[in-house]
Amino acid sequence: MQNIRNIVVLTGAGISAESGIATFRGPGGLWEGHRVEDVCTPEALAVDPELVHRFYDLRRAALAGVEPNAAHHALARLDAAWEGELLIVTQNVDDLHERAGATRMLHMHGELLSALCAVCGAREPWTDSLPEGATCAACGSAALRPDIVFFGEMPYQMERIEAALAKADLFVSIGTSGAVYPAAGFVQTAAYHGARTLELNLDPSMGSVFFEQTRIGAAGVLVPAWVDEVLGSLPGIHPGGGRGPVGKA
Ligand SMILES: [Zn+2]
Repeated sequence: MQNIRNIVVLTGAGISAESGIATFRGPGGLWEGHRVEDVCTPEALAVDPELVHRFYDLRRAALAGVEPNAAHHALARLDAAWEGELLIVTQNVDDLHERAGATRMLHMHGELLSALCAVCGAREPWTDSLPEGATCAACGSAALRPDIVFFGEMPYQMERIEAALAKADLFVSIGTSGAVYPAAGFVQTAAYHGARTLELNLDPSMGSVFFEQTRIGAAGVLVPAWVDEVLGSLPGIHPGGGRGPVGKA
C-alpha cells in the first residue's frame, strides 16, 4: 500500500449547509420565485442585472450571520499540520474555509467577497453591496460583476486542479452531490492516476460508486474524525501505522 503525501480535498455545499448557508437547490428551493439555476447565468446578468446583483448582495450580506463549523476547522487544522502537499478545492463561494484558517485552497466557482471586471479581468476584494455598473479600479470600465462562475461558465483554475489530481495520493470529497461536472469527475481522474479515494457525505451521492470508500454522516462529525486519522496516520488510511513523517519514504 502506498504512502500518502499529496492530498486533494474537494468540498461542496454540504459542508457550508451545516453552517446555515442556504443553497436554494432541490425541491421547493426557490429564491424570490426563481430557480437559482435561472438566476446565476450570463444570460440573466445581461437581461436582468439588478436581479442577479440583488441575489449576490443578499448572499454576501448573509455571510455575516454564519460561522465556520467543525468541518471547516478540521480542514484548517490539516492545512496547518500536513507536511505533504495539500490542495483544498471548494465549490463554495463563501469564505468559511478562510475564516477557519485554511490557506492552501482555491475557489473553483468564485467568491462572494470578490468583484470581477468583465472588461479587463481584474479582481478586487468586495464586502458590501455591488451596484450595477460599479467601476473597475484597474481599467475604469463600469463593468464590475460578482466574481462567481455562473452556470454555463468554465470553473476557475482547472489546470491547477487537474495537475494536483494527477499527483494526488489521496482524494477526499466532502459534502458534494457528485452531480455537477467537472467536479463530479475529479474522483475518476484521481483514481486513474493511482490515488486512493474517500467520500464523506450526508447521503450516498450520485458519484459514490466511484469511491473506494464512502462514509455517511454529518461533515461536522466525519471530517474532524478523518483529519485525526490522517494526522495520526491511523490504520484506516495508512496501514503502516506509525506517526513519522507520512509518505516521505
Ligand atoms: Zn477592468
